[in-house]
Amino acid sequence: MKAVVCRSPGDLVLEDRAAPGAPPPGWARVAVSHVGICGTDYHIFEGKHPFLAYPRIMGHEVSGTVAERGEGAALSVGEAVIINPYLACGKCIACRHGKPNCCVSIEVLGVHRDGAMCDEILVPAQNLYPANGLSLADAAAVEFLAIGAHAVRRSLASPGQRTLVIGAGPIGLGTALFARIAGLDVSLLDMSAERLGFAESELGFATLDGSKAPAADLVRQATGGEGFDLVLDATGNTQSVQSAFAHVAHGGTLVLVSVVKDDITFSDPEFHKREMTLVGSRNALRADFDHVAASIRNGAVPLAKLVTHRTTLAGTPRDLARWAHEKSGLIKAVIEVG
Ligand SMILES: [Zn+2]
Ligand SMILES: [Zn+2]
Repeated sequence: MKAVVCRSPGDLVLEDRAAPGAPPPGWARVAVSHVGICGTDYHIFEGKHPFLAYPRIMGHEVSGTVAERGEGAALSVGEAVIINPYLACGKCIACRHGKPNCCVSIEVLGVHRDGAMCDEILVPAQNLYPANGLSLADAAAVEFLAIGAHAVRRSLASPGQRTLVIGAGPIGLGTALFARIAGLDVSLLDMSAERLGFAESELGFATLDGSKAPAADLVRQATGGEGFDLVLDATGNTQSVQSAFAHVAHGGTLVLVSVVKDDITFSDPEFHKREMTLVGSRNALRADFDHVAASIRNGAVPLAKLVTHRTTLAGTPRDLARWAHEKSGLIKAVIEVG
């Protein structure tokens, strides 16, 4: 089969690889249909991922059809599926508490083990969710949107609460969309006028342009000096995360959606006087995948506007390398495999 292999940072090639064999019990062989390209993939390609072993087949935002099922896998051959790419051990403390999204020994397809930028892949049947009428193109968008949906659910916010999403990239936009679906009053803060223009004109969000004025001033203006009830940071930027503490209202919540490599420091008196809740959010759960799929089905997610670029498996080495630095007009790119 054909596979796009990242052999080392900056070196992405189309290779012939042996097709996966018969699936073991409880697993299925999936013919890949669509693969979304994620910020993580660009980081892997650029050598910026902190603990990645090369060579690696990337790809964790995936839809496909079941080609063969292993013993005991409750799926039909030919069934369209959404892949949950987080392979969990099922035994650790997080798994025992129903949180396989933060399994102690989690393996994410396309990161810790080979992913789906190829014709076929083996996946545990429990990680395959029936697309139930979603198109295969839409089914590949569920995972990246589930990250934001999970973060919003983790916040425990109530409808009407003033909410700030920092970062208007794909994860930030997904977070903002699912905050709005949850009934929150959402504004987006970013440093890019282009991204904010898109969020405002195409998606109808209120925006704060951090390139024009200090974020603290913009937050003060937008909230009458009170701060936001809920702040979700999706920038992956240490400076942004540290500043985000000051944007939270008294009694409010800060959710860290993206991860940064550095230590984060904050003023304890400022944190305490707000009685702030600080929440980490990692990956997503089946409930989030289901919520996202249902929201796409009922038309609440303007996916056609978010998917701006398309390529094929053969075109991926060239296009992914280009899109890693040519970001203008790019929200989400998708590889059409099948
Ligand atoms: Zn992703
Ligand atoms: Zn586990």
